Amino acid sequence: MSQFWSDIVHELTPYVPGEQPKVKNLIKLNTNENPYGPSPQVLAAITAQATDELRLYPDPNSERLRHAIAEFHGLTANQVFVGNGSDEVLAHVFLALLKHSRPLLFPDITYSFYPVYCGLYGIEYDALPLDRHFEINIHDYDRPNGGIIFPNPNAPTGIPIELTRIEALLQKNRHSVVVIDEAYVDFGTESAVRLINDYPNLLVTQTFSKARSLAGLRVGYALGQQDLIEALVRVKDSFNSYPIDKLAEAGAVAAMQDVDYFEKIREKVIATRESLVRQMEAMGFVVLPSGGNFIFAKHAKIDGGTLAERLREQYIIVRHFKKPERITPFVRITIGTEAQTAQLLSALATMMPF
Ligand SMILES: *Cc1c(COP(=O)(O)O)cnc(C)c1O
Repeated sequence: MSQFWSDIVHELTPYVPGEQPKVKNLIKLNTNENPYGPSPQVLAAITAQATDELRLYPDPNSERLRHAIAEFHGLTANQVFVGNGSDEVLAHVFLALLKHSRPLLFPDITYSFYPVYCGLYGIEYDALPLDRHFEINIHDYDRPNGGIIFPNPNAPTGIPIELTRIEALLQKNRHSVVVIDEAYVDFGTESAVRLINDYPNLLVTQTFSKARSLAGLRVGYALGQQDLIEALVRVKDSFNSYPIDKLAEAGAVAAMQDVDYFEKIREKVIATRESLVRQMEAMGFVVLPSGGNFIFAKHAKIDGGTLAERLREQYIIVRHFKKPERITPFVRITIGTEAQTAQLLSALATMMPF
């Protein structure tokens, strides 16, 4: 508390990111990073960009990157907005498209940055409870609103929602923007990108942090019709003209173009997930159906917080959420390499029976 702080700062409740431990040799399964490194072509492109030219500002419009993303998705560059991680893109989305007199709607159990942006920008919201299977019931969203946002698959549950349901939401909410946060979509969830040309009220966000192994580079993007993108550009150009630096642009373009590597890595992660789920279920865990690079699992005999602590004693870190109470039995486990997954399973086996 400081006399120098603005009223807004006194009121903020900031987001708390998962731990980035300083000690080595931990198996880090707590923040949904990719266990495999970025494509060698990405590293070469970043190295090639590390020259005298860094004295110059980057392209404020990130033309090359927006074209590369557009090409991958079969869209045009004016349907692409890029930012410093999809968190920054989302922040601009909240201010540009979701701040209205009617409340924004999102699930009660979801990405916990959403209520933080609402606090920052003074946006009213209603958090609608997931059903008893931890799924989004789109009929709950059938009410006046200033916008709707949720991740697909949802976080931290990992549960995907079918595209037909998203399309029904888009049809019922023609006067508000529906934002689908597709941070984890590449791990086996169907993307809403192909609906973009049919629905002027659809905005999709994606990131290079998860399936493209570039959480450290900070690049994310939004896809939508030009009118929505223009709103985001107006906010960005009132905030920071250069969110994508030269190294990030070079690396991200290469990542978009190396489709073979992207396919190989995501298929590996999906295969490891399926085998981990089978083996944990055999140990008596309940695992929610996952369309992401993580699972949300619980065991009737042990509380989630205790399980996370006991795994940590074996140098494996997973994420436990202390609230809301409905999810405290669960832990969220990022899918690691096959070797890390084998170590996780043998650590669990040593604890059995709970
Ligand atoms: C990881 C994540 C993001 C943010 O990703 P960036 O690293 O900022 O691009 C956004 N939404 C969800 C649901 C996420 O899990």
